[in-house]
Amino acid sequence: MSATIIKNGRVIDPANRRDEVADLYLKDGKIAASKSEIRNQKSEVDEIDASNLIVAPGLIDVHVHLREPGFGHKETIASGTRAAAAGGFTTIVCMPNTSPAADNPATIAWIKDRAAEAACVNVFPTGAISKNIAGEELAPIGSLAKAGVVAITDDGHCVQSHELMRRAVEYARMVGLPVLDHCQDYNLVGNGVVNEGYWSTLLGLPGWPAAGEEAIVMRNILLAELCVHHIHCQHISAAGSVRLIREAHARGVKVSGEVCPHHIALTDEAIRNFDTNYKINPPLRSKEDVDAILEGIADGTLSILCSDHAPHAEFEKEIEFDQAPFGIVGLETELGLFIDLLIHKHRKIDIGRLIEMYTVEPARLLKVDAGTLSVGASADVTLIDANLEWTVRLDQFQSASSNSPFDGWKLKGRAVQTIVAGKTVWNL
Ligand SMILES: [Zn+2]
Repeated sequence: MSATIIKNGRVIDPANRRDEVADLYLKDGKIAASKSEIRNQKSEVDEIDASNLIVAPGLIDVHVHLREPGFGHKETIASGTRAAAAGGFTTIVCMPNTSPAADNPATIAWIKDRAAEAACVNVFPTGAISKNIAGEELAPIGSLAKAGVVAITDDGHCVQSHELMRRAVEYARMVGLPVLDHCQDYNLVGNGVVNEGYWSTLLGLPGWPAAGEEAIVMRNILLAELCVHHIHCQHISAAGSVRLIREAHARGVKVSGEVCPHHIALTDEAIRNFDTNYKINPPLRSKEDVDAILEGIADGTLSILCSDHAPHAEFEKEIEFDQAPFGIVGLETELGLFIDLLIHKHRKIDIGRLIEMYTVEPARLLKVDAGTLSVGASADVTLIDANLEWTVRLDQFQSASSNSPFDGWKLKGRAVQTIVAGKTVWNL
């Protein structure tokens, strides 16, 4: 038996259209209805003073690379979930590009077992679309669904065969799984490593054109229509992708898009010092792309915020720009960056919508029971100080890796306490 009262916070629970200063009651790992429910407790009742804080449903990150099994030198399920907790996340969705790839029920079972032992937040695995994420043969999608994946994706790679992708979407519809897609046309992108434009030309680095993303976003819109099933486009970076999704929504097509903070915090100009912590896939783009993504967030075209947390060891990133792996860590900076940029700096959305994009929207996409403060729901809660000014310090990261371009950035807004099933897993 355990009970907690979170007192006097601004409770924002978009799932229940709630935004008011109130107390929140937690009992035995669940949200309780009222004070009377926990008054009869024999054991002590913990109290948390949440004055001037936002009390939000535990945030969900739909795009995280936990790297286990196979790449424990970059991150482990233990270190990655500690980073999630420190970032304010109570639930994370991990990508299947591990070694072995999560393309079979045994690997999914391994991830779930390991998470049950070592994770301090909820871990929902995804399964691969194709065997070994090679894009040639379908993974056993029905068995993956039975093993408990919340979605399928070949993230890190992109199924190039439209016919194979069509069959994947049809199987996914049959077993009720959403399809997530990393949108990259290999013909157009070739060996591109940075946005194709002024800076790629000036620096002599191979270009990754925006059309390489837009072509696959268009393919996914066509397949979502053809198969009458939802397809979610991961880490949208290009203005044309936003326009295509907006037009598809107007026709009622079931397609959605997510945004990572680096794609609005930075432009491709940042690569001019050849620092591999700015090498990301899809790449940092132009000011026009950033503006279009901000508009897509403002008008609801892009509905989910996430990190694409992609840890790499220092020795892997400290090589020539062309050779270095893509990606940066993000769990511990994303909420701060999004609050700072979307709410304080650009004023594109309010805090209620930001919380909705991290709770209701991902829960709806994945059809999971999370992201709400409804009575009886798991007591997953994130306390946020939207006005707290802080400085990013890589040496304080919980993540096992520190490949981030945001060291030293001064941000306004962050999570200050993270509670999973009634238990505090992180406290500033
Ligand atoms: Zn990706």
